[in-house]
Amino acid sequence: MDQDKEYVGFATLPNQVHRKSVKKGFDFTLMVAGESGLGKSTLVNSLFLTDLYKDRKLLNAEERITQTVEITKHTVDIEEKGVKLKLTIVDTPGFGDAVNNTECWKSVADYIDQQFEQYFRDESGLNRKNIQDNRVHCCLYFISPFGHGLRPLDVEFMKALHEKVNIVPVLAKADTLTPSEVKKKKFKIREEIEQYGIKIYQFPDCDSDEDEEFKQQDQELKDSIPFAVIGSNTVVEAKGRRVRGRLYPWGIVEVENSAHCDFVKLRNMLVRTHMQDLKDVTRETHYENYRAHCIQSMTRMVVKERNRNKLTRESGTDFPIPTGPGLADTETEKLIREKDEEVRHRAEHGHGHDHQHGHDLNNEHVHEHNHGHDHEHEHGHEQHQDPHVEHEAHSEHHPPYPEGS
Ligand code: GDP
Repeated sequence: MDQDKEYVGFATLPNQVHRKSVKKGFDFTLMVAGESGLGKSTLVNSLFLTDLYKDRKLLNAEERITQTVEITKHTVDIEEKGVKLKLTIVDTPGFGDAVNNTECWKSVADYIDQQFEQYFRDESGLNRKNIQDNRVHCCLYFISPFGHGLRPLDVEFMKALHEKVNIVPVLAKADTLTPSEVKKKKFKIREEIEQYGIKIYQFPDCDSDEDEEFKQQDQELKDSIPFAVIGSNTVVEAKGRRVRGRLYPWGIVEVENSAHCDFVKLRNMLVRTHMQDLKDVTRETHYENYRAHCIQSMTRMVVKERNRNKLTRESGTDFPIPTGPGLADTETEKLIREKDEEVRHRAEHGHGHDHQHGHDLNNEHVHEHNHGHDHEHEHGHEQHQDPHVEHEAHSEHHPPYPEGS
């Protein structure tokens, strides 16, 4: 009883939060990108032990040549020890197949923007309680094991996306390389990522008070980039054990054997250690940048509109008014300046996170954000017990601010 006096009870807060989250379930959206045939679907199946792609239709060569990037979405509800995870895989099939690959990243970038835009609309709407969050939390980018490091397309693709999504590069089909080749390729790829200024997902620094073992693991994880992965849809028998692997005349490659590849490291990173951080960075950096940009553009438009109205009222001519203090509505001007300052600050210093996502948002472009427009995004996904596969073709897109901004 004595103890009760000093014990207010907020020590149960973590449990309360925990219970609530477990009840609600978790969601995570993972995008896979890279040339087709690099083992993207096989890896996703291996990662989550599901057959997400059982309805997949493989295209023949001719169809692949003409096909533009069509984005498909697969959703599956998985449960482990009573914890529910709604996993969404966004696939970008056909990428790199077509003869003309210029701007093949565009539809992917648009897709990511569309999810931000939808979230932004929902957040500003009336029913903010049950927002369906479809923002892409991570993009696994597959690099071919057959090239010498990155290909121009890889560079272009990653640069087009790195300010919108957390990119985690993986070296595909690592079983086609010897261990020393893997090492060399990883080194080269890391060098090129640096050289081309590609901002991939940065693992957060670990706290200095963490124990040595943890620090070492963390360093190992950072040194593994790009993760060398092997996928397989079959279970084979190795030394009396049944394992997910690939059977060759000379032996068995085990997917989950860390001596063979980084599969387990990647899975642990995605599922056990960094899922929440990937979501946090998406929300705090990528989405926040998008949002700031939208608001900035919208405020600019309002002022422009207001000035135009003023002008037509006062003089009847259509000259643009220089928007200096004292001329336009000073309060609005102040707001814009503050927003500009905030965006600039964010661009220079990243956003409230250890991550090095610098953003160049000092852009004067005025964007026509059409809020009256109705999008055909679906809401309210039903919960399914069985793996439920949804296909969504995304042809229509209305990026809320012009590309390149
Ligand atoms: P996607 O087009 O990128 O989704 O590639 P798929 O997953 O359909 O795989 C294309 C082909 O590569 C299939 O024949 C797979 O069996 C094979 N494959 C997938 N993963 C690996 C791997 O890790 N190593 C090797 N050697 N082959 C793989």
